[in-house]
Order: sequence, then C-alpha cells, then structure tokens
Amino acid sequence: MKSPGLLNHKIIQKIKPGVVSFVCICALILLFPVCIVNAQTIDSKHFRLEKLAEGVYAAIHINGGYAICNAGIINLGEKTLIFDPFITPEAALDLRTAAETLFDNPITFVVNSHFHNDHIRGSQVFVPGASIISTTTTQEYIVKHEPESIADEKEYAPKRLAQLKAELQAEKDSVKRIELVMWVGYFEALATSNSELKTAIPDITFEDKLILYGKERTAELIEFQKGHTESDLILFLPKEKIIFMGDLLFINNHPWLADGYPENLITTLNNIQQMDADTFIPGHGRVGSKDDIVTITDYIEMIKLKALNLVNEGKSAEDIDELKIPEDYGDWLLSNFYKMNLKFMYESLQEKD
Ligand SMILES: [Zn+2]
Repeated sequence: MKSPGLLNHKIIQKIKPGVVSFVCICALILLFPVCIVNAQTIDSKHFRLEKLAEGVYAAIHINGGYAICNAGIINLGEKTLIFDPFITPEAALDLRTAAETLFDNPITFVVNSHFHNDHIRGSQVFVPGASIISTTTTQEYIVKHEPESIADEKEYAPKRLAQLKAELQAEKDSVKRIELVMWVGYFEALATSNSELKTAIPDITFEDKLILYGKERTAELIEFQKGHTESDLILFLPKEKIIFMGDLLFINNHPWLADGYPENLITTLNNIQQMDADTFIPGHGRVGSKDDIVTITDYIEMIKLKALNLVNEGKSAEDIDELKIPEDYGDWLLSNFYKMNLKFMYESLQEKD
C-alpha cells in the first residue's frame, strides 16, 4: 500500500513549478483526506455504495461477493439504521465500517425485512450495541428455521459449491457465467461463514407499523403479510420519497415466489405503487423506480396466466421443464427461479381445484 506522502511526492514531481501548479498541489493536498474517506467507505468486494439522498445510502450487492441481497445505511440523526445486513458476517463487517465512516453516530437499529438468510445473517456483527428489529412473524420464523437451515447448509453448501465451481470452469456462455459467479459466491458465502454464525434474534418486534423518529428524518417500517414470505416489511422515508423494499421487489432478476403468496403479493405491490415515493431499492438488482414495480407485477401475472393455461390444457408439472423463458425476461438473472415459480403456481392452482 502506498503511503500518502509518497503519492503526493509523485504528483508534485509530475507538475512543473508555477502558480497554477501550486494552486493544483494545494487543491490536491486539501482534497486528499476526502479521497481517503471515500475510498475507505466504498472499498468492499461485496457491495458498492449508492447515495440516494443526503444521509441515505443503498449498498448494492456485487456479483461474486458475499452480500447477496442489497442493504441500506440511513442516518436518522445521532443514530444510524442498517437495513438488511447481508448473508455473511464478513460482508456485514464491511457494511458496518462503511456506516461508521459515513456517519459519526452509533449504529442503533438493524432491520431484517424478512426471515430469509441473505437478509438476516449479518445482524450478529452489530450486537451488542444495536437493536435488531423485525416483524413479530419474521422473528418467529427466524427462531424456528435458522438452526435447521444452518445445520443443513453445513452439509450441502460445500458439495454444491464444488459442483458449481466445476460448472463455472466448463461454461463458455458469458451470460450463464455471470449467473454461475453469483451462485458460486452464494454457496461460498454459506460454506465459509457456517462455523461462525450466531443468530441474532430480533429484540424489537412489531405488527403493522413502527415509526422511528430521528433528528434528521423519520423512518416508517410497514408490514405486509403474505407476500414474498409470510411477513415482509418495507422501510419508507417519507421526506425523501424512498422505499427499501426487501424481497417484495426484484429488478432484472426473477423473483423467488415459492415461499410466498403470489396473488396477494400483486395486491401488495399495487398498494405500494400508490405510495408517495419515487425511488425503490429492491432486495436484488439495481435501484429502481415505480416502473419496476409495474414490471414485477406483470411478471407475477405472466406466471399466473401460464400456470393457469397449463392446468386448463391438462399438462403435467414435468411439462414445465420443457418450457423456455419468455423473451421479455431472457436477460434476467436468477433464471433457475422461472421454472420453480411456474411449478409453485401450477401446484397451488391444482390444490384449489
Ligand atoms: Zn427473500
């Protein structure tokens, strides 16, 4: 690593003496500490920071890293809130460093949008110190499912990782390679973090709505039942018109519908679309707008219609394996979720009959 002194010396050597150069050098020296702070803030292989408003950042997963989901860092004023602290303690430690570098506050609140592993496992690096917040149902699901998930992953994650690494090595298609890099990162994250996991169970729970008041801004946590999972929450910043959506929204990624209630999810998405917001941070994918809520709603409707046609045509679940992903969604990641979603919808429609 280069020392700041050496770097400045090199810059000075390249610039010819003179008034203009002197001004430039002064500017560089003055700016240097700022550059260091910014570099430290965003220097993670797991995520990149995106500033959404003064005091509000999204941390977007980098393909191949151990974040997997997107997170948020919000300065409430004298206290910092973290939204969805990633799948590994390793990525969450980088998130904590970023939050502490950005804001001179204690990290007071960590929010888990729902019980899935990628949104909760990093909580442990914030305790003791922070309170972990979720809905009451999500807390129950974490308590019920995490011990078994961690035990199961200890067995299957290393095996699946070895398979995926071999697949990646053999794969020539550039789009398929991007997906394989993501899945290798996912299973590597599970395999390498397994022995250090200590579940941080949410110690503040709520139903329906919880409002957190800070000197800088107010954050509303709003529960939606029976959507992506049994219970999901969003984080709404009314002043900034920003919503952190958790996995109620995926952008340019196939959503995971099979733990949830797709039809009710459509209603939820329609309700969120009516809210006074214009920036939406999905659980997976880039930062988006209201158009992306429409797109994901259309996707769920498409899955529903295709499943209904399969039932009406007397097709079997095995027939789904022969289907191709519709062109509109051809470049979406998490492509293996497409057939799983269709099968899930097909089976739930058959149960209704
Ligand atoms: Zn999820």
